[in-house]
Amino acid sequence: MIRIDRVLANNPGPFTGPGTNSWLLDDGNGDLVIIDPGPIDIQHSEAIQKAIGERSPVGVLVTHTHEDHAPMANPLARSLGVPALGFDFGPGFDPDLRLDDGGQFAVGTAQIAVVHTPGHSQDHLCFRVDDVLFTGDHIMGGSSVMVETMGPYLQSLEKIRGTGLRRLHPGHGDEMEDPDLVIDWYLAHRLQRHEEIYEAIEAGADSPLAVVETVYADIGPPLRALALRSVQAHLTLLTEQGRIASDHGEIAIASPKAP
Ligand SMILES: [Zn+2]
Repeated sequence: MIRIDRVLANNPGPFTGPGTNSWLLDDGNGDLVIIDPGPIDIQHSEAIQKAIGERSPVGVLVTHTHEDHAPMANPLARSLGVPALGFDFGPGFDPDLRLDDGGQFAVGTAQIAVVHTPGHSQDHLCFRVDDVLFTGDHIMGGSSVMVETMGPYLQSLEKIRGTGLRRLHPGHGDEMEDPDLVIDWYLAHRLQRHEEIYEAIEAGADSPLAVVETVYADIGPPLRALALRSVQAHLTLLTEQGRIASDHGEIAIASPKAP
């Protein structure tokens, strides 16, 4: 039976919720990996090493290279004498081994299956063991996610839906039961936002900022920058869908199709 422990990093905030979850995945016999060791933080590093205790780490994995997930991977891996693994190079991350979609990584008697899930970031991976999925920032506990590329993001949600998962362990917030319900909510939320953004443009919003002010009127300044990125991802998808057109930063509904 696999065993999973969480070590919460001390980096709470508007983008990270209660902080980054660093997960320890143990095969049940003391072989383990660390997933998302988080930002460089001596106390957090010590907390992870304490949680490892006498057990045998075999690798440090990162879901993606954002600053709240990956920077401590290389130093921690070096001090444990194990490889750091991820999809690609990124700011503050230099993988010893690169993981790709469909790949496997053995942790003692357990097998981690690698699932490439671009959208939140291009280099985003989820890690699956049995019916448990470590979701990084693809799905978060208790909030929606900043999305860089909307088309791939929606596909990456579809990709993990209906695959027999029973639990999600996110990069932020608490673990979640009923993965397919959660994924359905994420899909519905995104598609609803997509239509709200289209409607805002129909109603006269003619720039990404104007769309943020209409659709995300209820959020404070720190989250507006994130909202702007997600809006831009929606606008790109709306453009790809031929529903809107943009010209020198001005956006408008594409001319209606002939009946
Ligand atoms: Zn994060």
